[in-house]
Amino acid sequence: MRIYINGRYYDQNEAAVSVFDHGLLYGDGVFEGLRIYCGRVFRLGAHIERLYRSAQAILLEIPMTPAQMKEAVLDAVRENGRREGYIRLIVTRGKGALGIDPASCTTPTVIIIVGDIELYPMEYYEQGIGIITASTRRIPADCFDVRIKSLNYLNNVLAKLEARQAGCLEAVMLNREGYVAECTGDNLFIVRDGTLCTPSPTHGALEGITMQTVMEIAACLSIVAQAKALTPYDLYTADECFMTGTGAEIMPVLRIDGRMIGTGRPGAVTSRIRDHFREMVADPCRFDD
Ligand code: PMP
Repeated sequence: MRIYINGRYYDQNEAAVSVFDHGLLYGDGVFEGLRIYCGRVFRLGAHIERLYRSAQAILLEIPMTPAQMKEAVLDAVRENGRREGYIRLIVTRGKGALGIDPASCTTPTVIIIVGDIELYPMEYYEQGIGIITASTRRIPADCFDVRIKSLNYLNNVLAKLEARQAGCLEAVMLNREGYVAECTGDNLFIVRDGTLCTPSPTHGALEGITMQTVMEIAACLSIVAQAKALTPYDLYTADECFMTGTGAEIMPVLRIDGRMIGTGRPGAVTSRIRDHFREMVADPCRFDD
């Protein structure tokens, strides 16, 4: 594995950042997770845009243009000779003093890791996954806007730990008002009476690129899809439920807090969307990069 750090490639064992990097010391930085399908990077443009918006929101000036960043990502894919895989793109505030002040950091650290990711066991994609509702609430948007995809994931990590302790692999997070926000690393959709519903950033959901892709697929399949406030009751009584994310893709959810969702099998709408998604990523001419 060849890892890109600030314009140079390092072998896996040699790739390292300073212990004074504020990404490590304070989680001060932003990141993206991307997928390579059939030798092409899925929705590269959308990921780069989100990265630059996150950076802009935290006043982090990335020392490359978006076009240069795109080229760097594609170059890292080539350097690693990958046709399928996962990319982790990270920009930290960089090396600085042992204080929180970002002013001491002069040069952001840009890291590109090209590797594999398998978030959930394969059989879950056919059988569905069981999840819980975490008691850890999403950080409210007036404290920290969830659209910033930052290196501060401790809020999500705490919810993930709750999932693990309950014997699950994922947890739903609610916002302070008790509405569903999203899962710890995935967006959440339900199907009710044939309509797709998903919480929006106002409810505490990241603007997921897979979520947006699902919205486009729904339009293509003439399925009505809307952003909507959802409560745990809406999840428990949904006809179908699924999670979306770059790593997870489309994962049917069949049990939430012990309640069986729908028939207990992946539903018709979920399956149609999942099949369409799989066809899309199997044919690079059908997705933007
Ligand atoms: N929510 C959170 C908290 C995430 O970290 C992610 C990415 N893993 C998602 C949703 C899904 O976003 P995307 O489809 O862009 O990967």
